[in-house]
Amino acid sequence: MLEGVNASDGIGIGVARVAVEPDLSFTPHKPEDAEAEKARYAAAVEKFVEQTNAQIERMKVTVGEESAEIMTAHIEFAEDDGIKDMVNSSIDAGMCAEQAVSEAYDTYYTMFANMEDEIFRERAADVADVKTGLLADLLGKEVVDLSTLPENSIVVVHELTPSMTADIDKDNVAGIVTETGGRTSHSAIIARALEIPAVLSVADVTTLVKTGDMVVVDGANGKVVVRPTDDELQTYRAQARQYAEEKAALEAYRGKPTVTADGDQVLLVANIGNPDDANVAAEHDCEGVGLFRSEFLFMDAKELPSEDEQFSAYQKVALRMKDKPVIIRTLDVGGDKEIPYLNLQKEENPFMGYRAVRYCLNNPEQYKVQLTALLRASAFGDIKIMVPLVTNLDEIRQVKELVEECKADLDARGVAYNENIEVGTMIETPAASLIADDLAAECDFFSIGTNDLIGYTMCADRGNDRVGYLYEVYQPAVLRSLKRIITEGNKAGIMVGMCGEAAADPLLIPVLISFGLGEFSVSAPSILRTRRIISEWTKEEADALTEKVMSLKTAAEVKAALQAAAR
Ligand code: PEP
Ligand code: MG
Repeated sequence: MLEGVNASDGIGIGVARVAVEPDLSFTPHKPEDAEAEKARYAAAVEKFVEQTNAQIERMKVTVGEESAEIMTAHIEFAEDDGIKDMVNSSIDAGMCAEQAVSEAYDTYYTMFANMEDEIFRERAADVADVKTGLLADLLGKEVVDLSTLPENSIVVVHELTPSMTADIDKDNVAGIVTETGGRTSHSAIIARALEIPAVLSVADVTTLVKTGDMVVVDGANGKVVVRPTDDELQTYRAQARQYAEEKAALEAYRGKPTVTADGDQVLLVANIGNPDDANVAAEHDCEGVGLFRSEFLFMDAKELPSEDEQFSAYQKVALRMKDKPVIIRTLDVGGDKEIPYLNLQKEENPFMGYRAVRYCLNNPEQYKVQLTALLRASAFGDIKIMVPLVTNLDEIRQVKELVEECKADLDARGVAYNENIEVGTMIETPAASLIADDLAAECDFFSIGTNDLIGYTMCADRGNDRVGYLYEVYQPAVLRSLKRIITEGNKAGIMVGMCGEAAADPLLIPVLISFGLGEFSVSAPSILRTRRIISEWTKEEADALTEKVMSLKTAAEVKAALQAAAR
């Protein structure tokens, strides 16, 4: 039994698939026998083609014929005569196969990456994948591909990066176990959105578990059972059934408004990462979108998405939500969200560095592409613009100025948009919390990002489990900050929502009701449960509990009081 952070509820039972990032470094050497070296290369090509063909067959079933066809480019690049000639002549000239392959594919990569035509430029990534595949084979390493997995796989990885999850074969993943990441790391957020049981920060799990091991992931309790006994399996299977039953019981809340026990209505919306998530959120009965993390659009792409590409994504969500509100957050790059093609410098302190609105305001022309796409999409629904990581009023003012410039450009182009589009801010830094009154005077709405606010308030990295004991929403410092933000927003008459994970925390919900939170933005699978918990509290009861909680001095006391009062 291994323990880690309980990141996504549910019981996953399946077979481990340990994905270790292969180290593809090598020391170039001069082979003794060039012919044998060429044969080694030829064998690597043959094996690569064979594996890719098998992958294409699997993908035809999992993702469909059309998507599977994309992989044929890999075969073309592996078998390309021009590349083969280049590799073989380099080997004849005294290079080892690894170096010859590496240099030939790098040459082709640069050639494609610099082409005018976007379609050709996109091939550069295929070239890079083929190079990785061939090198891994030559070096005797395995590249694990998470896009096609056998049924009921338990994915075991050191770190699940947002880009890895972009094409994970989610239907076949029964559970996720990692060696890093806290409850609000992006891997955890994605795992919850995909409804995959996950336990993170399990020390050395990639060495302790072997591919092929039977594994149980107990997401709610942060436990991982490796090679369970028959008895353990039976117990966990029963728990999995019970979990499914509880989920079924929540169906009673589908289609109902979100109201407290005494009838106060609040908005219950969803956090999404791409247009497909909007469908999932709608299936879970959301009342709109409270946070569309637009950076995932950028992370899924190989270069900056164009205005049209962004417009199309935002428009899809607007149309899917009809007249319901859709808050789209502008690019929140940095921290743990890397976008390789932006070539940002590595920083000592990425969470406090050149990121989010700071990066965007430094690249106004690029930012205006996104703002223009958002404005165009606002003609198709109730889109609102949200700015991340704000720490001062200048940032909001500058964004609003850019929005006005984009509006003028669209007027000149004769393109429609919502003239009254709302611009709001995330409150996720202590600085923003402290100037909430000034920000409220110039913003159309607030959305509290507790994931970062807790981290910055407590000086505890959200992904670092060693300081996880400090990273708690129940800390009096955090609660006072939340109260202040909600009170100031309400005083100014603007909508105050919360899109951090704390909005779905069953223990915290009565406190948020008492503070006067107007909008709860949660992951799709948490929607019905959040509606149920809101329905269980009257304002008076929530106020009484909150008054008591706000007088307590430690997070442990707060949590205990909330647990004792939980319905
Ligand atoms: C937050 O910080 O609470 C938030 C919602 O944004 P993200 O998790 O993407 O940083
Ligand atoms: Mg944040």
